[in-house]
Amino acid sequence: MELSERQETIIEIVKDNGPITGEKIADQLSLSRATLRPDLAILTMAGFLDARPRVGYFYTGKTGSELLTEKVKQYRVSQFQSVPVVVKEDASVYDAISTMFLGDVGTLFVVNAANRLSGVVSRKDLLRASLGNQDLNNIPVHIIMTRMPNITICKQNDALIEAAKILIDKQIDGLPVVKEMDDGLQVVGRITKTNITKAFVELILE
Ligand code: ADP
Repeated sequence: MELSERQETIIEIVKDNGPITGEKIADQLSLSRATLRPDLAILTMAGFLDARPRVGYFYTGKTGSELLTEKVKQYRVSQFQSVPVVVKEDASVYDAISTMFLGDVGTLFVVNAANRLSGVVSRKDLLRASLGNQDLNNIPVHIIMTRMPNITICKQNDALIEAAKILIDKQIDGLPVVKEMDDGLQVVGRITKTNITKAFVELILE
């Protein structure tokens, strides 16, 4: 985050004199305590300063990039996941293509009769199946999907950065977010490269 000149000065004052009360910082800047309040709030929230009641402000010693890293590591999958789009195993490739268009997604998750994750179908899986003259209404998606146990998954409480790393390492576009049930995995969300991009934009523009 970009700090104002006054905020930079406050950090310097606290670095040299901390712990120091808001009153004393205001005195040094010849400003009122009220004028300074928003700056102190921002610096405390961003993690540059820490405030202890009856003691005052002190410098945390953390640099901007350290604070940014800390913040990114706190992002959880649940904060950024999207709604999953699923199809049944016996849905046809034709239906899967329609669902992909209607759901405006690039990855479909395939579920079995008990609604548990059994596979993943990507855009290229469907393109591949569409090449040639086969009747797409007669090919069920379970024939062409990537199937369990070869599906890479994530959980809601996983760190977003870990999910992002998996997408890069495995060279795939999306991960199902799952909950473990007695009879398999329930699909509760999806994390895609778009969600990661959104997190990146939010981080910078916040
Ligand atoms: P595309 O094939 O459209 O480029 P992906 O790169 O996401 O899309 O998929 C590449 C291959 O990996 C496809 O065959 C797909 O079925 C498979 N795949 C996609 N997501 C996963 C996943 N989460 N776990 C395992 N395999 C996956």
